[in-house]
Amino acid sequence: MAHKHAGRSKPLILGGGSNLLFTKDVDGLVLKNELKGIELVKEDPHHFYVKAAAGENWHQFVIHCIRHNYAGLENLSLIPGNVGASPMQNIGAYGAEIKDVFESLEALNVKDNIIHIFSANDCAFGYRESVFKRKYKEQFVILNVLFRLNKVPVFNTAYGAIEQELQKTNVKELSIQAISQAVINIRSSKLPDPAEIGNAGSFFKNPTLPLKQFQLVFKEYNNMPHYKVDENHVKIPAAWLIEQCGWKGYRKGDAGVHVHQPLVLVNYGNAGGKDIYRLSEEILQSVKHKFGILLEREVNII
Ligand SMILES: Cc1cc2nc3c(=O)[nH]c(=O)nc-3n(C[C@H](O)[C@H](O)[C@H](O)COP(=O)(O)OP(=O)(O)OC[C@H]3O[C@@H](n4cnc5c(N)ncnc54)[C@H](O)[C@@H]3O)c2cc1C
Repeated sequence: MAHKHAGRSKPLILGGGSNLLFTKDVDGLVLKNELKGIELVKEDPHHFYVKAAAGENWHQFVIHCIRHNYAGLENLSLIPGNVGASPMQNIGAYGAEIKDVFESLEALNVKDNIIHIFSANDCAFGYRESVFKRKYKEQFVILNVLFRLNKVPVFNTAYGAIEQELQKTNVKELSIQAISQAVINIRSSKLPDPAEIGNAGSFFKNPTLPLKQFQLVFKEYNNMPHYKVDENHVKIPAAWLIEQCGWKGYRKGDAGVHVHQPLVLVNYGNAGGKDIYRLSEEILQSVKHKFGILLEREVNII
């Protein structure tokens, strides 16, 4: 393990780097996780248990599972990054989250170099949340993740434009392959490709409001889209709030708000991490001022 360093006390753990914003240089050790390997470790009548090492590319892993008819990850196709980061924020898209198919993970404690096993319960998964993002921030290096995938697929096409895409592409028989392709098509048409224009995906989380607060804001803005989370909480799309504050397509220097997706902040070339951070701060303040709602950043700020 590394010797003591005058900079950061814990190493920075790097996966694919797709959900990080660097506002300064890293003064200390950076651990780039390149562990590879995908293995079917066991089966029961209903499930395949598949273990993937942290350094495997997420989408390649999803494709591997789809090829082998291991069902459950198809809605999570084309999410950038590596397997090791997937539990970090319980990655999710199109009505699915990894917590739905998560069995356990192994992680190395950087304090004592002991490998721990975490169950789903231990991970305390929430919406873009886990114990690794908060309580154990930078304390554990996730080494591998064991997924519990279905032998009989449970198709989930209710979310977003999946149904329309399936119709558009003339899919007659539903399959995990068809759903994955539909998700790939939708994502490619909607989200900016980081290889072409710098971005870290959704910059903010969709805020969840207590019902009372929601009712107060809704009184004033009754066209506000919203989704019931439970009896006492309502979720609001952050993209709508940001757009209402006039940010969609905004650009200052090379830092900007995506023209179609106001939730995505983009770097047109030479913006520094600080420029992007400053822009996110301005957006945060304006949403707070107009709606009294405090947005939270989803991206990890270094
Ligand atoms: C265009 C685009 C679209 C996106 N769409 C989605 C989406 O639909 N849904 C979604 O949930 N996310 C989305 N994201 C965010 C991103 O894909 C995920 O957060 C992904 O899991 C990040 O993986 P990574 O390997 O690049 O992680 P990094 O960016 O390298 O790291 C992210 C965080 O995880 C930590 N970390 C990384 N690897 C490990 C490890 N092995 N052990 C412990 N900690 C680790 C890092 O320290 C950091 O804090 C999107 C991003 C982009 C750019």
